Amino acid sequence: MRKVHVLPVGHEMGDKGGITLLKDIGKTIEIPYHSYLIEDPEANILVDTSSSVRWKELHPVALSKFWPVHMKVSERPNRVLERIGFSPDDIDYVVNTHLHYDHCGNNALFPKATFLVQEDELLHASSPSWWEAFPYVKKVFDVAGLKYKSLKGDFQVVPGVTAIQTPGHTEGHQSVVVELERSGVVVLAGDAIYVRENLEDPILPGLYVDARMYAESMQRIKDIVKKRNGTLLLSHSREYLSPKGWKKLRPGVSTFD
Ligand SMILES: [Zn+2]
Repeated sequence: MRKVHVLPVGHEMGDKGGITLLKDIGKTIEIPYHSYLIEDPEANILVDTSSSVRWKELHPVALSKFWPVHMKVSERPNRVLERIGFSPDDIDYVVNTHLHYDHCGNNALFPKATFLVQEDELLHASSPSWWEAFPYVKKVFDVAGLKYKSLKGDFQVVPGVTAIQTPGHTEGHQSVVVELERSGVVVLAGDAIYVRENLEDPILPGLYVDARMYAESMQRIKDIVKKRNGTLLLSHSREYLSPKGWKKLRPGVSTFD
């Protein structure tokens, strides 16, 4: 039976204005990190790998100051996986929703996996224009020996698990749609939606390369969730949208099946 495990993998502190465009600028908030393990009879698929456990050494000083990472040893992705019975070598695929430092920081921990990233994202992360460069840290994803497969559009990883294009936050951002027996459809939005306010105010998230594409991607996800009476999980929020309304993840690993 296919399952989605929600893995809490640390947090950072940051300006609320980056989460909700031009609203609450100057207010520092805790921004949680989530990765996901999709346990499937055909393959183990990890979605996103959090910020590097070596962030102090690898992140540029300006980035570390602007978004300081907080990650206890017990919150490292490999440790969280171990607690639910998986080792990094058990991971067949890693889907990076995008290549910002806080979504691919520990790719190096999964040398046996194939990394699935949109082609546009690989191109922009590898040679970004100056205005999109700040959150890309090449050293954490451009690691010798890692196997990247570039995707051109929506891609079925295994039957029932599909990466869908949701650009706007970055040029090649993708989200993941998972079909589950009991919970129905679950959408792992990545950074296509940050928090409940983005949907309810509604207000765009504060960091984007294309506002119109961002709004269209948010709509794409909203349509899937509404039409399928689905569940929506957000990378940077402990709140999630269930068919019965907004709920809060409990501490530790939560599992949907
Ligand atoms: Zn991002």
